[in-house]
Amino acid sequence: MLNPADIALAKTQSGQRLSDSDAYALTHLAASDTDALCEAASGLRDRVHGSTLTYSPKVFLPVTNLCRDRCTYCTFRKDPGEAGEWTMSPDEIREWSERGRRLGCIEALMCLGDKPEIAFRGFRGLLASYGAESTADYVRIACEISLDAGLLPHTNAGLLSGPEMKALRPVNASLGLMLENVGPRMRAKGMPHQYAPDKDPAARMEMIDEAGRLAIPFTSGILVGIGENEAERIASLLALRRSHERFGHIQEVIVQNFRAKPDTAMAGAEDFGEDQMVRTVAMARLILGEQMNLQAPPNLNPDAHRRLIRAGINDWGGISPLTMDYVNPEAPWPHIEALRETCVAEGFTLEPRLPIYREFINEEFVDPAMLPRLERFQSDLDGAVAV
Ligand code: SF4
Repeated sequence: MLNPADIALAKTQSGQRLSDSDAYALTHLAASDTDALCEAASGLRDRVHGSTLTYSPKVFLPVTNLCRDRCTYCTFRKDPGEAGEWTMSPDEIREWSERGRRLGCIEALMCLGDKPEIAFRGFRGLLASYGAESTADYVRIACEISLDAGLLPHTNAGLLSGPEMKALRPVNASLGLMLENVGPRMRAKGMPHQYAPDKDPAARMEMIDEAGRLAIPFTSGILVGIGENEAERIASLLALRRSHERFGHIQEVIVQNFRAKPDTAMAGAEDFGEDQMVRTVAMARLILGEQMNLQAPPNLNPDAHRRLIRAGINDWGGISPLTMDYVNPEAPWPHIEALRETCVAEGFTLEPRLPIYREFINEEFVDPAMLPRLERFQSDLDGAVAV
């Protein structure tokens, strides 16, 4: 007799949507079932995404590394006056954007700490000197500069309110916020988000849903290996699926693995193992379905590219020829040509994409101010790929 996990796997092979209990049943699969899991996941991916894998050529703009949160694994955040504290000036945003454009980047990733103006009074003065009323307002100005320099912004500025997202929509191709984990346990005493109020999962889900109400193409994902268990990972994927099924706005889901960084409280914690990562990616594909764009960061998994392809990803996320990964400075981006060779060896082509997936480039999901620009970028890219 088949057990519930085998029944769930069989369902995915016949194209059926997994129920919540099917999804949890996958956790009963043994480690020795990972190949079967990957086979089902890659089969599902192939049905819609065929033999194309994508990446987004980007310039990473760390608009400010001030942050009011204190996640115990983070080396990105700084306090005012601490060595390495940095808020990019408008001139720096322009200069980096222009250099990125010259190097063939399309995306300007605006990545920054959460709500620094609430925690640090002095930062408000700096924002005012740049003509901004808040951090989100400064990001809007930065997006305008990057747009003017010929890039397409994608903003991940932490928790944003509805009005803040509304103001950013006309100057962004898409917005993003990692859910990380939907379970409240990560905020408990001694856990990585104890001192990170903006990592409250209910608030993050509310923002993700609100982005849906505002018809904003949205990137989210889960952070794995920070002390959560497999059932909590499944619950997080189901929460993202629920939001997407309600609003249709989640354009991609990232499975991002924890990597321990020196000089942090979690420096001694074990990295998320490769087998676990592969298993989680495959489960994400089975739960999120064939249409979803599923991404795993290649720089955080330098030895697992082939296995991640076999686990059902169809995208590698942003890769920069210019700037490092400021959130994971120890993990260099792969060379595009080396990544392309790996993709080809697995039977796939590797193609650049915009920071908005083509299925979202329409009047429903894009502000009229941005639509012609995005259509032009997509058609230029299609022309370049066809040549
Ligand atoms: S991970 Fe993000 S929210 Fe947490 S401390 Fe670092 S910058 Fe702030």
